[in-house]
Amino acid sequence: MNNKATGKCQCGKISYSLNQDKVISGHHCHCKDCQRATGSGKATILFIARKYIDIKGDLKYFESKGSSGSTVRRGFCDNCGSGVLSYAKEIPHIVYVKAGTLDDSSWVTIDSNFFTKSANDWNRPDTSIKCFEGNPSIMAGIKTLLKSF
Ligand SMILES: [Zn+2]
Ligand SMILES: [Zn+2]
Repeated sequence: MNNKATGKCQCGKISYSLNQDKVISGHHCHCKDCQRATGSGKATILFIARKYIDIKGDLKYFESKGSSGSTVRRGFCDNCGSGVLSYAKEIPHIVYVKAGTLDDSSWVTIDSNFFTKSANDWNRPDTSIKCFEGNPSIMAGIKTLLKSF
């Protein structure tokens, strides 16, 4: 049985549905780029294989270099500006969905914090979960995981 979750940008031009049973993990990212992109203290993202998310509407992408040298593509609605998902160009099979765009995110669980070194005092990381000072090495794990997709 597919456990379907739906989400959308603020204006509704972009919408999606995903299989919530296939979400790999959830993370708070406190990196400076996520802070700028969200205008907030952090981005909360869910990792999921692209094949388990169905996106309606055309996202516009902004590309920048991540700290690990990868190229991060941040997808947003060109009408309302909501950030919906991003991915690393080198690992396009995995997308990072912005949890705040889900219609109902009550089922979401967060596994760890990324880039706690750039977290702000006014938005301290939740230390009851795993913390990475910078870029987590889980990307290497995901590359291995990818072989099964
Ligand atoms: Zn929109
Ligand atoms: Zn980030």
